[in-house]
Amino acid sequence: MDDDLLSRLRRFHTDSFPAYQATFRTLVREGQHPNTLFIGCSDSRVLPHLLTGAGPGELFLVRNVGGFVPPFDGSTGYHGTAAAIEFATLNLAVQRIVVCGHSHCGAIRALYDEPNDEAHHLKAWLNLGKDAMLSVADPSPEALRRTEQRAVVLQLERLMDYPMVRRRVEQKRLTLHGWHYVIEDGQVDVFDVQRGQFIASSESAHSGTGPYPDPPADTGLPTIAPGAP
Ligand SMILES: [Zn+2]
Repeated sequence: MDDDLLSRLRRFHTDSFPAYQATFRTLVREGQHPNTLFIGCSDSRVLPHLLTGAGPGELFLVRNVGGFVPPFDGSTGYHGTAAAIEFATLNLAVQRIVVCGHSHCGAIRALYDEPNDEAHHLKAWLNLGKDAMLSVADPSPEALRRTEQRAVVLQLERLMDYPMVRRRVEQKRLTLHGWHYVIEDGQVDVFDVQRGQFIASSESAHSGTGPYPDPPADTGLPTIAPGAP
């Protein structure tokens, strides 16, 4: 049987790797110093390196169902996403955190569907998007898009509950960026914290919430208002 995956690995080694060899060897010698933590949905159509033009060593990636950020609640468990946020912030000292949602997100759609009881962990995980839901039983494409965008803002708010994130944001050493990638248009809409809405990157003056405005001491990003964005 033709092993397509093996063929791809061999092609990488012979065709693609030589162009990057020097870069990878430098990254091995000097270690990685990515300046961006990218938290995105696992969806196969979301390609962080393609969207940002990033090369090796530039993005520290966290992918999960929905691109969700778990709460910083002091609980114990195998919290992979939370651990990655802590590592990226404390050890790698990233200067930007991007939370990237996208159009036609299955995780957001699943919020409105009956859960599959066999998917024990998935069912619990989707709770991280619940607060972004709109009060409709059968959401229209527009309602789903708004839910996707509200979910991004919700994750940004949760990020601000991580003490090491909040501290660095307030010290202006770290900026947070909420993105919504419209797959069919190749357009990333970026969340403008001051206007409280998503703006097409083609029309936005910046890549998201950063630079973070001087926040009131106890609030962080604005709470999602009903109907917004
Ligand atoms: Zn998704």
